[in-house]
Amino acid sequence: MDLEYGTCEICGREAKLQQKYYVFDIKCKCHSWDHVEIIKYCSDCIPIPPPYTKIVLFDKKDEHNKEIVIDTEILELILDAR
Ligand SMILES: [Zn+2]
Ligand SMILES: [Zn+2]
Repeated sequence: MDLEYGTCEICGREAKLQQKYYVFDIKCKCHSWDHVEIIKYCSDCIPIPPPYTKIVLFDKKDEHNKEIVIDTEILELILDAR
C-alpha cells in the first residue's frame, strides 16, 4: 500500500496517509472504469465515504460531458435499487 505524507481527509492532521477506494457501480468519464472515490486518511482515523461525489456522464444528445454532484448515500441507494 502506498504511504504518502499529506493532510488526512477525515481529521485534517498532517500525517502519513493510507488510501481507501470506494467503487460505485456506475460508468464515469473521470475514470476509465466504474466511478471511484479515494479517501486519504491517517492511522488515527477510520475512513468514511465522502458526503458528496462528482460523476462525469457523457450526454449523447449534445455530445458533452456533464458533471453531476450527488449525495453519496443517495447514489448508493439509487444503485442498490437498480
Ligand atoms: Zn486523520
Ligand atoms: Zn468518476
